[in-house]
Amino acid sequence: MCRLLCSLFCASLLPFGANAEVICALGSGASSYDAKGDQRPTRDTMQLAARMNAALSPTCSPRCPQIAIYRNTTAPNAMLVVTPDQAKFVYAPQFFTAVYDKYGDGAIIAFIAHEYGHALNEVHPASWMKSDWTAELRADAWAGCALAKSDLSLNDLSEALTAVSKYPPSALSNWSLRAPALRLGYIHCGGDGSQFDSGAGGSKRN
Ligand SMILES: [Zn+2]
Repeated sequence: MCRLLCSLFCASLLPFGANAEVICALGSGASSYDAKGDQRPTRDTMQLAARMNAALSPTCSPRCPQIAIYRNTTAPNAMLVVTPDQAKFVYAPQFFTAVYDKYGDGAIIAFIAHEYGHALNEVHPASWMKSDWTAELRADAWAGCALAKSDLSLNDLSEALTAVSKYPPSALSNWSLRAPALRLGYIHCGGDGSQFDSGAGGSKRN
């Protein structure tokens, strides 16, 4: 599966170093990333990744992308990297700690789901998404889907959406474009649109 993923990814992506491609980065600093600093994720992060996986895997099983997770202090806030050997999600522990403390579980789930969504989009392009959506919007829609399936309170949903709006992917920061994609994913995966709108009320920013 990884080999399939890599062959799909690597054809269309910006070169990064000799043999790694950054598919998406949240925040700046991807060029400072040093893979030698990759470490196992914390148990807390693994638990949140498992919740994200439980939310999204029904949409792709049995052909879900396999992605390794690492923490690395040289990473940007979060990113998806593909090497010839694997696809990996790498996060900056200082960023995850700060986000978790301020915005809670839902924010971390949404960030992981956005990055996983890039991989998912390569393996399972979703017919319910608009055909002219960019990869970033598609990833956001998957993040919205994961939020819908995470059983968050309205307050937790609102906090998660605020975090998602505050820390956009470097390739797309325009919230007025991102919010409809998140919303469509949220509704597609069983969420209530009016609940999303209430939750997104605090996220009117660019
Ligand atoms: Zn992205």
